[in-house]
Amino acid sequence: MKRMMLAGSALIALAGGVAMPALAQPAAAQVAVPNNVLLAEWTGPYEGVPPWDKVTPAPFPQAFQFGIDEQRREYLAIANNPEPPTFVNTIEAMEKAGQRLGRVGAVFGVMTDNMSTPQYEALDKEWSPKLTAAGDEIILNPRLLQRIETLYNNRASLGLDAKQTRLLERTYEYFVRNGAKLNEQQKAQLSGINQKLSSAFSEFNSRLLKDEATITPASAAEMTGVPKDVRDAAAEAAKEKGLPAGTFAIRNTRSAVEPVLTFADNRALRQKVWRAFVNRGDNGNANDTNGIIKQIVKLRAQRAKLLGYPSHAHWRMQDTMAKTPERATDLMMRVWPASVARVKEEVADQLAIARKDGLTRIEPWDFRYYQEKVRKAKYDLSEDEIKPYFELSNLVNGMFWSAGQLYGLQFKENTGTVPVFHPDVRTFEVTRNGEVVGLFYLDTYAREGKRSGAWMTTYRSRARLLGDDVVLASNNNNFTKPAAGQPVLISLDDASTLFHEFGHGIHYLLVDVNYPSLGGSQRDFVEFPSQVNENWLLTRPVLERFAKHYQTGQPMPAALVDKIKRADTFNQGFATVEYLSSALVDMKLHLDPNGNVDPDAFEKRALAEIGMPREIVMRHRLPQFAHLFSSDAYSAGYYSYLWSETMDADTWAAFEETGDPFNKTVADRFRTYLLSTGNETDRAEAYRQFRGRDPDVNALLKRRGFPTDGVVTPAPAAAPAQPAAERGR
Ligand SMILES: [Zn+2]
Repeated sequence: MKRMMLAGSALIALAGGVAMPALAQPAAAQVAVPNNVLLAEWTGPYEGVPPWDKVTPAPFPQAFQFGIDEQRREYLAIANNPEPPTFVNTIEAMEKAGQRLGRVGAVFGVMTDNMSTPQYEALDKEWSPKLTAAGDEIILNPRLLQRIETLYNNRASLGLDAKQTRLLERTYEYFVRNGAKLNEQQKAQLSGINQKLSSAFSEFNSRLLKDEATITPASAAEMTGVPKDVRDAAAEAAKEKGLPAGTFAIRNTRSAVEPVLTFADNRALRQKVWRAFVNRGDNGNANDTNGIIKQIVKLRAQRAKLLGYPSHAHWRMQDTMAKTPERATDLMMRVWPASVARVKEEVADQLAIARKDGLTRIEPWDFRYYQEKVRKAKYDLSEDEIKPYFELSNLVNGMFWSAGQLYGLQFKENTGTVPVFHPDVRTFEVTRNGEVVGLFYLDTYAREGKRSGAWMTTYRSRARLLGDDVVLASNNNNFTKPAAGQPVLISLDDASTLFHEFGHGIHYLLVDVNYPSLGGSQRDFVEFPSQVNENWLLTRPVLERFAKHYQTGQPMPAALVDKIKRADTFNQGFATVEYLSSALVDMKLHLDPNGNVDPDAFEKRALAEIGMPREIVMRHRLPQFAHLFSSDAYSAGYYSYLWSETMDADTWAAFEETGDPFNKTVADRFRTYLLSTGNETDRAEAYRQFRGRDPDVNALLKRRGFPTDGVVTPAPAAAPAQPAAERGR
C-alpha cells in the first residue's frame, strides 16, 4: 500500500475492503482542510515541491485521517452519482481522486525509507493497516464496481480511444482481481488479511532495519588488505559508535560488507562479517523475522485461495508480461544450469590460488576474495585499479551526460534552492528541448534509519489529466560517506547500481501519459529501462570522459578500458547464481498452495532441490528478503529482473548492431515506443514495434558469456501496470 501510494498513481494506489457507509457524505469541496503542513498543496517552483524542511512526525496522524476521509468522500461521490456512469464521471473521476492522500503518502514513504526513527516506525505500524483498509473500501464498494462493470460491458460502444479502453479494461480487471466480486463475508475476510499483511510488512521492515544498524568491530590488524577509503569509512563508523580510536566498525549493509569480503586478507574477519550479513533477521533474537515471514506466506496463500487462484504466485502474476509462474520459471531454468556450470569453473580457478594459502575448499566468505585474485591473475585487473577512476561525482556527471546524448535530458544542479529531507541530498533541474520536465533528488549516502540497497521513487509522476507536467524523481543509494574532504570512490558494482537506479529515473522523467494509472509499469517490465541503462557505464565515451583519476584527473587509460571490456563476462556464474537462486526460492515459496512453511527449512530444501553450489549464498536469504516481505510488490516477482534482462540484452544488442552505443535513431525509437508510453500500450507489442520482433533470450545468454541455444524466446503475452517505487536488485 505505502509503495503503491508513492507512485502518486490514483487508481492502482488504492488496493485493498470494508463495506462503505451507505449514505453519501458531503462533497470534498465543502470540507475545510485543516492547517497542516502535510495537507497543504505543495508550493514553490516545479509546480510545487514537498516541504521537506517542515516535515516532522507530529502532523501525520491528522494528515492521514483527513486524507483518508477526503478520499472516501471523493469515491463515494463517484459511486453514488445519480447520473448514469460515463467514462468521465467514473473512470476519469477515479483517476483524479485521492491526490491529497497520495501526497501525504509520498512524503511518509521517504521518512520511513530514508529518514526512519522510532517515531516514524510507530506511525508506519499504526497507519499501514488503516491505509490498506481505506484502499480496500474503494475496491470492495459494490456500487462503484457496478458502474465500472456497466462501462466495461459496453466498452465497444462508448466511443473510447485505445488508451481509454485500456484504462477501463485494466481498472475493471484490477477491481475483480482484488476481490470486488466477492460476497460480503469474503470481503470482510479479505480486508482483514490485507490489514494483517500491512502490519506484518511494517514489522518486517523495522526488524530488518535494526539488524542492518548493527556493526562488526575490527582491529587494525584484521583490516589488512582492505583499501584505504573503506578503512577510513569504517574508522568513521567506529567513531560514531563510540569505539576506541584505532578500531574499525563494519556496518551490516551491502556496500560496507562487500569490500571487506573482497579485500580483507584475514579470513576470520571475512567469516565474521559474512555471517553477520547473511544472518540479518535470522538470529533468534528480537529482530528475527522468521515468524513474520511464516505469517506473511500463510496470509498470502489464504488470500489467493479466497480470490480463486491456486497460489499467491498465480495471483501476483496476473498483471505481468510473463503471465504465469510456469513461464517465469521456464526462463529461469533455461539460464540456471549454465550458471551453475560456470560457478564450478570459477571455483576451480579460485582453488588453484587458494591452495597456496593452505585452503582445501572455498567457503562462501572466501568467494569474493579469491574471485578478486582470479580477476587479477586472468585479466590483470583489480577493483583497486578501477576504483581511483570511479569517483562518484564524476560518474554522476557521466550518467547525466549519457542521458543527454541519448534522450536530450539536461541536468543542472540547484542544490540549496529547494527543500531537501537531509543536508546530503543534492537536487537537479531537468530540462528537455529547453522545457523544464523534472526535478531530480539524489540521496547518495548510507545512514542509520535509511534502508539498505538502492531504489528510485517519484514524489510526482507526469499525468497530463491532473496537470502534473513536472516530474519529481529521486535516486537513493547507500554509498559509504567518506571522511570530510575525501573523494567517494565506488566499485564497479556500485557504479552499475548508480546507472541502474538512474535508468528508472530516466524512464519516469520521460513517461508522458494522460492518465496516472497508465504511467506505471508491470513488475517484469519495470527493471528493463534500468538494466538497459547500466550498459552505458562501460562504454568508451563515458569512461574516457568521466572515469578520471581522482588525484591526477587523467582519464582512464585505454589499456585499462580494454582490460575491463575483456573481463566483461568474468564472474557471471557467481552473479547469476546469487541472483537466480533468490528468484527461484521466491517463486517456489509463493507457489505453495497452503503457505505452511518454516522459512529456514524451506530455504534449505528449495536450494537443495535446485542444486545450489555450496560456495555461494542467495543474494537475499529469506530472513532479509525485503523485496518479498516489506510489501507485496516484488513477491513472486524477483524473477522480473531476469525477464527484464531478456529485453535489456536484446535492446543493447540493437545499439551495438549499429556500432554506436549512442545511436540516435535507436535511442529515439527506444524512448518513443518503450519509455515515454508508460503503460498506455501493451508492453510486448511496444517491444515488437521497437525491435521488429520479440526479444531473443540468446542475447542475454551471450552477454553473460553462457552458451547460447538458438531457441527464440516465446512471445511474452499481453498483460496490464504499477507504480514508481523501484527497488535495486
Ligand atoms: Zn531496479
